[in-house]
Amino acid sequence: MIDYWRDTERIVDNFKRKPGLVLVLTGAGISSESGIPTYRGSDGYWNKESDNFLPMEIATYSMFSRKPWFVWEWYLSRRVQCLNTEPNKGHFAIANMEKMEDFFLITQNIDNLHKKAGISDNKIFEIHGNLNFARCYKECSSEVYEVDECFNYHVKGMDLSENEKRKLSCPKCGSMLRPNILWFDECYDEVHFHFYSSTELALKARLLISVGTTGQTSLPIQILERVLINKGLIIDINPDDNPFRSSAQKTGNAFLPYKSGEVLPRLSEMLMK
Ligand SMILES: [Zn+2]
Repeated sequence: MIDYWRDTERIVDNFKRKPGLVLVLTGAGISSESGIPTYRGSDGYWNKESDNFLPMEIATYSMFSRKPWFVWEWYLSRRVQCLNTEPNKGHFAIANMEKMEDFFLITQNIDNLHKKAGISDNKIFEIHGNLNFARCYKECSSEVYEVDECFNYHVKGMDLSENEKRKLSCPKCGSMLRPNILWFDECYDEVHFHFYSSTELALKARLLISVGTTGQTSLPIQILERVLINKGLIIDINPDDNPFRSSAQKTGNAFLPYKSGEVLPRLSEMLMK
């Protein structure tokens, strides 16, 4: 049996000889261990009024501009599912890592599980947004608003009442709110999705730990490229092959082909010892 930990130990030793910024990047894989569907493939279909839609069709500006309440219902149902989901050992191990002096987490997940596991707001960049927040659809300001608690019990498939729709309107200008989520037909920016902050961090990273990400969106790949520019160390954690693992292999770094909950507690202990 291959001992994947040997490479990881070598990378950790290397890091300790010359410590620096630890950057953790997480994707859907870590949350799927808590039971959140990845919304890729057929398990992501959403059925409404006998129409079937894929998340890649629903989570778009184009769909919201045509069927805003339909899109809201989808997000509110996902939000309730996330509210009822607990973080796993991987999330807790990452939250514990913020005790290191130089540490940041960049996540593609919108499910709020990292914050639920206790990570501080100033240590996390949610580059695809967070289900608990909304902003003005007309962009009258860049302010974000917390989704009202009355939606904590939203039932999947239920139409929104007029009163509920009113709670999804902008406090400043009265127009509709939209989820503060990066949609498939939109571009990254700094004000909501921390584009420049994330790429800056990647340039400074001494060690990148990528967790459960497939690298199918552009920013995670740009983060990887920037870490490689400065010869940063890489440890990839993912049971499946992905671009981060291939890069780690090509550059003499390490990967652990396991679930994050199984290996992150040990890795965080090694780093903090
Ligand atoms: Zn507004």
